Amino acid sequence: MHAQKRMLSLPSRNNMPIARRHLGTTKAQDVTIEAKNKETAQDAVNRRSFLKELLRPAATLAVVGGAGALALRAKPEDYVWQIDPEKCTQCGRCATSCVLSPSAVKCVHAYALCWYCDLCGGYHQSYTQAPDTAAEHQLCPTAAINRTFMENPFYKYDIDEDKCIGCGLCVKGCAAFGNGSLFMQVRHDRCVNCNDCAIARDCPSDAFVRVPVSQPYIIKEHGKEA
Ligand code: SF4
Ligand code: SF4
Ligand code: SF4
Repeated sequence: MHAQKRMLSLPSRNNMPIARRHLGTTKAQDVTIEAKNKETAQDAVNRRSFLKELLRPAATLAVVGGAGALALRAKPEDYVWQIDPEKCTQCGRCATSCVLSPSAVKCVHAYALCWYCDLCGGYHQSYTQAPDTAAEHQLCPTAAINRTFMENPFYKYDIDEDKCIGCGLCVKGCAAFGNGSLFMQVRHDRCVNCNDCAIARDCPSDAFVRVPVSQPYIIKEHGKEA
């Protein structure tokens, strides 16, 4: 079960008698507790929406930065390689098949979709119960994800692209335990736009597509909530 969902979940009506026995509360007290829980959950949802709006421009700017570099050396009629995030299965070949080392493929973050989890499926090892920054609890092999406290109980996760090798482990973890806000993209400030892209050749899910240079990124706009 996802940590953030666990954190925000309201008490199930079916479980109330058990909870009451456990807590030793009266029915009236339970109603008060449930109302407080609803308030807390609603507060959390409101704060999360606020953070999403706050960080939306950051994601756009990060990607537009790469697009700007590309525009300087491309003709309007050109096409470039990109990953369709809905088709990518995070097989790992983006890290190893690119002619560049490290790969031109990086993980990027759609902040608008993120749940800002304390225990993050993209950042933490699935077995850890300790949502902290200890190296042994991190999923990323190169420590390329920076975790920043926002406000209780929310944390922001930023990709350090210089460290990212495009292995996709965090993307897989986020898709499994989060909302799928991390995804893979060819970064056009790095890619040399090979005619015969070595990753496209190796990709098992036909996720590599040609896109017009005027729209070089395929930004994920829907998570599990959609
Ligand atoms: S090779 Fe294809 S499926 Fe594998 S990580 Fe890259 S885009 Fe995704
Ligand atoms: S086009 Fe070339 S540089 Fe770009 S992702 Fe594919 S193999 Fe890497
Ligand atoms: S887990 Fe892999 S894809 Fe994700 S940030 Fe680290 S190196 Fe990049």
